[in-house]
Amino acid sequence: MPEAQIIDGKAIAESVRGEITERAAKLLSETGKRPGLAVVLVGEDPASQVYVRNKDRAAEACGFHSVKHTLPEDSSEEAVLALVDQLNNDEDIHGILVQLPLPGHIDESKVLRLIKPEKDVDGFHPVNVGLLTAGERDSALVPCTPAGSMILLKRTLGDTLSGKNAVVVGRSNIVGKPMAALLLAESCTVTIAHSRTKDLPDVVRAADIVVAAVGRPEMIKGDWIKAGATVIDVGINRIPAPEKGEGKSRLVGDVAFNEAASHAGAITPVPGGVGPMTIAMLMVNTLTAARRLMGLPDDEPLF
Ligand code: NAP
Repeated sequence: MPEAQIIDGKAIAESVRGEITERAAKLLSETGKRPGLAVVLVGEDPASQVYVRNKDRAAEACGFHSVKHTLPEDSSEEAVLALVDQLNNDEDIHGILVQLPLPGHIDESKVLRLIKPEKDVDGFHPVNVGLLTAGERDSALVPCTPAGSMILLKRTLGDTLSGKNAVVVGRSNIVGKPMAALLLAESCTVTIAHSRTKDLPDVVRAADIVVAAVGRPEMIKGDWIKAGATVIDVGINRIPAPEKGEGKSRLVGDVAFNEAASHAGAITPVPGGVGPMTIAMLMVNTLTAARRLMGLPDDEPLF
């Protein structure tokens, strides 16, 4: 039986979305305007279609103006750039999200760099990356998954992250690097591990906080986790589950949950941990972008 506190990402994400719904209603009553989110999908990748639908629904549930643009798989790069340009200049749109991955013939970084940094609710534009790493988190739009992971950490540990040893396993631009920047901004002592890290189990054993963002099912074992550590498992991996029937599958994280839960003080489950926070933070970023574009001060930060 797990002994660790299970961090309920679903419940925390619902509370964040509730707060954003209230704040959006207040904005509407004060300005007559709704935050506007445009999500762009190019092609018919089934997983991307699900993500885009969920983002669109979440935005509507928060009372936002939500627009979905679906372009065919064989759209030219020029057509995608023209759409982003049009959305950059649309006063009713405050957040633009281009669902990744884009088809191979389109240069992703060219598209992402065209998005106005003020409307870059994914937080991937170099301007937002620069603000975050320069210690100006509160002026940036912060990538959603690491931002959501920080809320989970703070709701679990309180505002007492300072001085803790944090190990982030994974160095992607989407998760690992911005997560490390956020932990550093909280005065954690941060180690970023990756595929070339030597003695990874020992590196992880030194951590008070472990963030796993690797994309390898249950790679981080229970005996790598220091007693009482807090474990945030970002990984989402689909593995075969013959026990559920032929051809069935299930989702697991990058951490061997049952083993790790008998060592950790607190741990996120997969599903139901970081996943729901990502969409909630997209709503937070869209509202933040809307207020800034309207010349209004930011709301109280949520983390
Ligand atoms: P990614 O771009 O593939 O990066 C994976 C990172 O893991 C890389 O830095 C890689 O190191 C490192 N790595 C790979 N094998 C390793 C090993 N054996 N030991 C140590 N490090 C290793 O992945 P990502 O986009 O960051 O995503 C990571 C996971 O999070 C995936 O499962 C993804 O589905 C999930 N995810 C979830 C959410 C959510 O909403 N919950 C959002 C985004 C991603 P190198 O750099 O050396 O190659």
